[in-house]
Amino acid sequence: MDRNDLIKMLMAEKLLRSRRVIKAFEDVPRENFLPDSLKGLAYSDTPLPIPGGQTISAPHMVAVMSEYLDVKANHKILEIGTGSGYQAAILSRMALRGKVYTLEVVLELTDFAKKNLAGYKNVRVFSGDGSIGLPEYALYDRIIATAGCPGIPRPWMDQLKEGGRIVAPVGGVYEQRLILVEKKNGKILETDLNFPCVFVPLRGLYGWR
Ligand code: SAH
Repeated sequence: MDRNDLIKMLMAEKLLRSRRVIKAFEDVPRENFLPDSLKGLAYSDTPLPIPGGQTISAPHMVAVMSEYLDVKANHKILEIGTGSGYQAAILSRMALRGKVYTLEVVLELTDFAKKNLAGYKNVRVFSGDGSIGLPEYALYDRIIATAGCPGIPRPWMDQLKEGGRIVAPVGGVYEQRLILVEKKNGKILETDLNFPCVFVPLRGLYGWR
C-alpha cells in the first residue's frame, strides 16, 4: 500500500470524511515519523514501535480523532503525547493559520519528534507532564490526548475555550474508549464516541503516575 491506497481505504471505511483531514493525510509523509527500519511499513494501517518503548498510532486512529476534533484553520491546539510527531503534523496541516502545542514526557521522544517536525513552522514541541496541560499558552480551541487517560484531567477542561472540544481515550490501562468533551455555555458535556481503542497509558499527576 502507498499513501494514496491508504487514504482511499480509510475513505471507503468512512473513517476519513472531511476535505480538511483528507488533505492533511495527503500532505504528510508518515515515513518521516518512523525509525529507518520501519519506513517500509508507513502505509500499513497499523501502530508501530518508536523510540522510548512507545508507539505511533495507527492511521485509522489518527483519522478518527482528527475528524472528531473538527479543527478550523485558525485554531490553537494542544496535543498531549507527541510520540513521533505524526499526529501533530496532521494537526498542523489542518490548522494552517493556527498553532499546535504538543507535549511529550519521554525526553528521547521529544528530540525524535522535534527532528521529525522541523519543517512544520506552526508546531511547538514541549517536554513535560501534559496531564496538567500547558497553562502558559491557554486557552485552547481544541485539546487532543493520544495516551490512555483514567479520566479527563480537570486542568484540560479549565484550559479549554468556550465552544472548545477535547478528544481523548478514556478508560483502563489496557483499553479505552474515545470520549468527546465540549464546553458549552460554561458547562462541560461528555459524550462516549463508542470507539474502543488501545493507547499507552497517560503518565503524570492526572494519569496513571
Ligand atoms: N501522537 C503520537 C502517538 C503517541 S503515543 C504519534 O502521532 O506518534 C503516546 C505518547 O504519550 C507516548 O509518547 C508517551 O510517552 C506520551 N505520554 C504519556 N504520558 C504523558 C504525559 N503525562 N505527558 C506527555 N506525554 C505523555
